[in-house]
Amino acid sequence: MRRGTNLPRMGDYNQTVVLDVIRRAGGGLARAEVARRTGLSPQTLTNVARRLLDLGLVVEEGEAARRGPGRPGTLMRLNPLSRFAVGVHLDPATMTFVLLDLSGAVVARAQSPTPVPEDPDAVVDGLVAEIEGLISRAGVDRDRVLGVGIAAPGPIDVEAGVVLDPPHLPGWHDVPLRDAVAERTGLRAVLDKDVIAAACAHLWAPGGGAAEEVEHPSDFVFVYLGTGVAVSTVLRDEVVRGVSGNAGESGHLVADPDGAPCWCGRRGCLGAVLRAEALAEQGRAAGVDLPGWGDGSDPRAVDDAVTALAAAADAGDPAAREVLRVAGRRIGMAAGVLTDLLDVPTVLVGGPLWDRIAAHAGPALRAEVAAHPVPGGHAVSVMSSAFGPQVGAVGAGCILLGRAFAPRPTDLLLVS
Ligand SMILES: [Zn+2]
Repeated sequence: MRRGTNLPRMGDYNQTVVLDVIRRAGGGLARAEVARRTGLSPQTLTNVARRLLDLGLVVEEGEAARRGPGRPGTLMRLNPLSRFAVGVHLDPATMTFVLLDLSGAVVARAQSPTPVPEDPDAVVDGLVAEIEGLISRAGVDRDRVLGVGIAAPGPIDVEAGVVLDPPHLPGWHDVPLRDAVAERTGLRAVLDKDVIAAACAHLWAPGGGAAEEVEHPSDFVFVYLGTGVAVSTVLRDEVVRGVSGNAGESGHLVADPDGAPCWCGRRGCLGAVLRAEALAEQGRAAGVDLPGWGDGSDPRAVDDAVTALAAAADAGDPAAREVLRVAGRRIGMAAGVLTDLLDVPTVLVGGPLWDRIAAHAGPALRAEVAAHPVPGGHAVSVMSSAFGPQVGAVGAGCILLGRAFAPRPTDLLLVS
């Protein structure tokens, strides 16, 4: 949580600090408590509160419960339906769309297969049509939509809003996705990498937009399973982006020295044994009856094969269950290395693929992490992301909300 400043000319920064404190509290806060948490003087807070009320971002209501001595006051509460953000997750197999309110809660959602994933123009057409449909079906005043956050496979150029050469989107080279969506929709847009967006879902909207004040991990690794595998790191409520915004490439972390060969020349790299196509291949090699996926160039066919593998495991097929158990163990081995390296107490697992295999991979993952000696002696907990397959889209929307409303100390530098 950031603190405010009582110096003059800091109005915009203080506004975001106050909004952030109120938003995180969920259920509403007395003014005195807002002042305590932000460190703002009563006069500064009065000015900021008036602006937030005028903008409709905050409402005041009720009497705060009297806690010991002191004056009870009205409660300041976020007005979640005052603004909205669209979150888009472009996965090579599936496009996921959510409309978030200001609290980060999902108020509308949509999903569709990615149209001809190797054709960027077709994908942009599909994205724009779905975004427009989502906003109009939700019946939300367009002026209240702050913009669109887009999560896409990396690598990306964050500054330029360009998708560079993602290995899982063949045919994509330097695609200016952010500006294409912004121009076509007339909405502000931001672009981020899928695994970074997924972690961010847990920063803006802890608890999935629940109204209650929810405890959420502030230090964790997020293992993302989609068409590819990646890991992001969150330390003290900040996602680690790296110098180019492309942190999270974990594909060549060795999970099994005797595993399948990787294109890098080694064996058993995480990407080589855990990406969707590898799981499908392992299933078929073990004798599970799976639909064909050709040469693997159509991510939707690969995705269908993984769905069939998970269904076979659900139905009790021991070969399918073993493939997913081993996958869970491999994730656990990688997670143990990462939690040691970073000294974090929590592993979150999610992404488009995870929910389908979690029932079978989860126990082995947890057992592996539990058996791993922790240098600091504390427990390491393993949790499935509460956002399910929407995590990338929710995170992308949260990044857009964050750009608009989260307090950033760099804002202070501009006026100092
Ligand atoms: Zn490799």
